[in-house]
Amino acid sequence: MRQVNLAMSKTCLRCTKEFDESTVEDPSSQKYPSCPECWKEWTTYAVMVMNEMRLDMSLPEHRKALKKYEKGFFEKTIGEIEKNPENK
Ligand SMILES: [Zn+2]
Repeated sequence: MRQVNLAMSKTCLRCTKEFDESTVEDPSSQKYPSCPECWKEWTTYAVMVMNEMRLDMSLPEHRKALKKYEKGFFEKTIGEIEKNPENK
């Protein structure tokens, strides 16, 4: 077990891997600490969700729906959300 705590090092919420914060390019990924790989995975997944659910990001209700998926993706409860997409 390493005890070295580098200032730039963060633990990814999704894969629990440590990553260097300075490698993160998208500032919106800081809400859920995620390594660049997981964040990239999320953006790909988000596009899929938007297409499948025909989400319009100009509508607050639709943005809220995507937020739910975002939370589920990083907190690893996405399976439950996919089973009940209408469950608000
Ligand atoms: Zn990760």
